[in-house]
Amino acid sequence: MALETILYEMAADHVAKITLNRPEARNAQNVQLTYELNEAFDTAAQDDNVKVIILAGSDPHFSSGHDLRAGSGKGFDSFKPVGTWGGFGMKGQEGMMAREEEIYLGMCRRWRNIPKPTIAQVQGKTIAGGLMLAWVCDLIIASDDAMFQDPVVNWGVPGVEYFAHPWELGVRKAKEILFTADWFTAAEAHRLGMVNHVVPRAELAEFTLALASKIAEKPSMGLKLTKEAVNQSAEAQGQWMAMLSGFNLHQLAHSHNMQTYGVPIDPSWQSAAQKPKA
Ligand code: ZN
Repeated sequence: MALETILYEMAADHVAKITLNRPEARNAQNVQLTYELNEAFDTAAQDDNVKVIILAGSDPHFSSGHDLRAGSGKGFDSFKPVGTWGGFGMKGQEGMMAREEEIYLGMCRRWRNIPKPTIAQVQGKTIAGGLMLAWVCDLIIASDDAMFQDPVVNWGVPGVEYFAHPWELGVRKAKEILFTADWFTAAEAHRLGMVNHVVPRAELAEFTLALASKIAEKPSMGLKLTKEAVNQSAEAQGQWMAMLSGFNLHQLAHSHNMQTYGVPIDPSWQSAAQKPKA
């Protein structure tokens, strides 16, 4: 697959770097970018020379979230599904749930489970669906100007599809950022444990690559088993079942909004600063 929305390179020995590359759209995730990102992750996963994967976004912002505009890039018809849920064109919530299972929850789950260390390199703004891309990575390095927000409660939906908020921020802070839809800073994300390091913007790429190279010196088997051991600790605490529950409530919200307003998000809440994209 020729990648049009993603850059892929070997950035150092045993380190692959994947860059979201729709800067004109603030790296928003349309269907095409999501499938191409999946292709890039698969390439890195299957290349035995790759031991560590960096996920970055072209300046100025890491990701503005999901791009829901009709006609933005190639659609579902252009790609082979990676999950087993078909019916993307079905009416009602059946089709919408299938699409969100495939490109949001399902793909994020796939990427989270790649048995090689992944590092998100995050600068500028990261909104809603952008959080999911950072959260699936094992480590997150943020620039000191990075800001984060999940504003979807404004549209009657309980957080983005990959519902990791309580695991990333703790139960109490997760509720606050969801209830208020407020921004939180890199410093706060660091204090809460969501972010590993905060560095000056000008040093972000260099710092991340140095960390990736340091990790890449370790034996690949040790890295894989260590990642699995930590991930399985989260599973033992019920992380996946909790996230499935969050996803199902997310689908209930879309269905409610469709029945009430005729669109999957509540259009009644409006502010100049935070209008939905579609
Ligand atoms: Zn959704």
